[in-house]
Amino acid sequence: MKSFIAYPETSDFPIENLPYGVFSTSDNDTHRIGVAIGDQILDLSVVYYLFENEKLQQAFQEETLNRFMSLGRPIWLEARSKLQNLLSAGNTTLQSNPDLRKKIFVSQSKATMHLPVQVGDYTDFYSSIHHATNVGIMFRDKNNALFPNWKHLPVAYHGRASSVVITGTPIRRPNGQTCPVEGAAPVFGPSRLMDFELEVAFFVGGPPSKLGEPVPVKEAHEHIFGMVLMNDWSARDIQKWEYVPLGPFLAKNVGTSISPWVVTMEALEPFTVDNYKQDLTPLPYLQHSDPYNFDINLQVDIKPEKSIASTVCRSNFKYLYWTPKQQLAHHTVTGCNINPGDMMASGTISGETSDSFGSMLELCWKGTKPIQLKDGNTRKFLQDNDEVIITGYCQGDGFRVGFGSCTGKVLPALQLY
Ligand code: MN
Repeated sequence: MKSFIAYPETSDFPIENLPYGVFSTSDNDTHRIGVAIGDQILDLSVVYYLFENEKLQQAFQEETLNRFMSLGRPIWLEARSKLQNLLSAGNTTLQSNPDLRKKIFVSQSKATMHLPVQVGDYTDFYSSIHHATNVGIMFRDKNNALFPNWKHLPVAYHGRASSVVITGTPIRRPNGQTCPVEGAAPVFGPSRLMDFELEVAFFVGGPPSKLGEPVPVKEAHEHIFGMVLMNDWSARDIQKWEYVPLGPFLAKNVGTSISPWVVTMEALEPFTVDNYKQDLTPLPYLQHSDPYNFDINLQVDIKPEKSIASTVCRSNFKYLYWTPKQQLAHHTVTGCNINPGDMMASGTISGETSDSFGSMLELCWKGTKPIQLKDGNTRKFLQDNDEVIITGYCQGDGFRVGFGSCTGKVLPALQLY
């Protein structure tokens, strides 16, 4: 496949990708839906009329992707095939119309990206076996690192949708209760153990499911639109004190950053790999034998203020134990209904080796092994004004299907009380 828009082999956004996002520009602050191609954005709010399907025409004039996501896979496929056609080297509709081209293409460097979706509900899973094992070893028992339920169900908690933010949004170090001396009284103040979590989230698509009607694992794919990179910012000291017995709360609602471009399951499909081998056969409602795992290279960099970035983690989506299909089937098995735009995150994605751990907690093993940054600094957890940069891509033969980046900077805490 070749586009008339030129880009290098290392571009995240070749014609094989075509992820959707929402952007505005300095001369037009309306939020518009666009598709990334090379270093450009095709403004779908201008070219919507080229799509024959009226539902698509309407959806592409919205300010978020929710309506488009609700239309379902046959219409998503129709949109993708039309876009690939319009952007291909052999099609002259856009290519040979210089006046039109000026109106419909926006340079990504001149665009401001916004949340692509109004996130109704956000759920965070805990599906990396290496992450769950590491945390279990650190906080419980080396010989019983995983809780007895872990290999039987994809563990998760209901997260907070209001604080999901677009890449680039600064995150303020939270204040909260912590209990630095076990057995002593808790104290209040800025979290001292600020962390990132390397995650990938999928967005629910298709018509809303009905309350009381589970989405079977066989139908889960029809409810999965596409994926983004995610940083689930975590205040470890707050988490440690508060999480018993109901799980994470304030440690995680500080902010959750996502990358701006939603990469569709169609773009990811060529990078499908075998599912992680599950050594306990799950219950029938969680079983599927078709591969639904993806080879997505993931990387985390830390950039201290006025300094250079250092890569601290290289991981891969394929290390996840539970698949997105299993996560969705489990989430809805009670009859819990899902809506287009709901966000379901993987949980921290750690690989087997210590340089592939997806959080500072694991990389520095609870603060016992500081990591060395390229600029001479060391870190155990994040410091004020550190920027965390998550990137990810699938490597094809001569092209990449990339996600762009998910960044955020830790601001100093507010002075309270
Ligand atoms: Mn998480």
